[in-house]
Amino acid sequence: MDIDKLLSMHPINCSLEVTPPSKGKGIKPVFETIKPFIEFKPLFVDVTYHYHKPGTLSIATAIKYKFGIETVPHIVCGGFTKEETENFLVELSYSEFESVMALRGDAPEGPPYMFTPKPNGFQYASELVEHIKNMNRGNYLNKEQEHRMPTNFCIGVGCYPEVHPESSSLLEDLKYFKLKQDLGASYAITQMFFEPEVYRSFISECREFGITLPIIPGIKVLSHPKQVEVLPQLFGCKIPKDLLEEVIRKQDDINSVKQWGVEHAVYQCEQLLKYGAPDLHFYVQNDPALTVEVMHRLAKR
Ligand code: FAD
Repeated sequence: MDIDKLLSMHPINCSLEVTPPSKGKGIKPVFETIKPFIEFKPLFVDVTYHYHKPGTLSIATAIKYKFGIETVPHIVCGGFTKEETENFLVELSYSEFESVMALRGDAPEGPPYMFTPKPNGFQYASELVEHIKNMNRGNYLNKEQEHRMPTNFCIGVGCYPEVHPESSSLLEDLKYFKLKQDLGASYAITQMFFEPEVYRSFISECREFGITLPIIPGIKVLSHPKQVEVLPQLFGCKIPKDLLEEVIRKQDDINSVKQWGVEHAVYQCEQLLKYGAPDLHFYVQNDPALTVEVMHRLAKR
């Protein structure tokens, strides 16, 4: 079922993002991550894609059939030619996936620290969205062959309430975000952020700009003092002053930091729901305990 249709069916929704385990670690940690959320009936589970961590397609397939949950594999531009990307999408359609998350992919962690597409690959997520939409109309890369079966993907994209680190301004970012909507994206999930007001103001900027699709906030529960340094570096998100000061004050007591992470996430989710968030999308990676605690607290509201 289309993710945008699922979003309108429940008053409070949650969804999860899981990551393929490091190579050779087995699939069990992924299943163990999802199990404690079953009681909250997550709307969907995303499975990320990373060059150095194989398994996105098979993990997504396993989750879909084991738990019967709508599962959304991520697909990235980086590292693939257009033909390889199309082939991957064909694999996804044979496995009866109905939703995909279309992303550019991260820049490499080493020099030149700049995203470079593979020759004859897609450079921007918008190009990927356009191609998936073309496949949904039965238009594949090889235009000479006729009678191609249309795919049926609902397309999700990423967006950045605190501006993508490579963008010169919010306006520039919104321009390309709107392009993804205009080319066929049905919904978006935000990069993680920690200040609920950031979401409210981003939604208002987007609506003013003509971006009308559902925008789902991405939420990360802080679990370690180091994250207040590392997450802003990795994802360009800001840590609010009160959260930062409290984490620094508690940094020698990891359990207190975790509890504070839960307190903050509960507060953040309550605010986000007040601001009309259509779903709470948790970046659980493969460490579910604190997010489960947040969901239990929210369920008792
Ligand atoms: P784009 O929309 O292509 O934007 C990238 C940059 O280029 C932006 O600065 C944008 O303003 C600019 N831009 C866009 N279009 C144009 C254009 N036509 N001309 C000029 N500039 C343009 N990464 C992974 O590797 N694997 C994952 O599984 C993954 N999952 C993610 C899930 C979510 C919800 C989010 C928010 C991010 C995820 N990422 C993932 C990270 C993402 O790949 C990076 O943030 C990447 O740098 C940008 O991806 P994008 O799809 O937003 O790119």
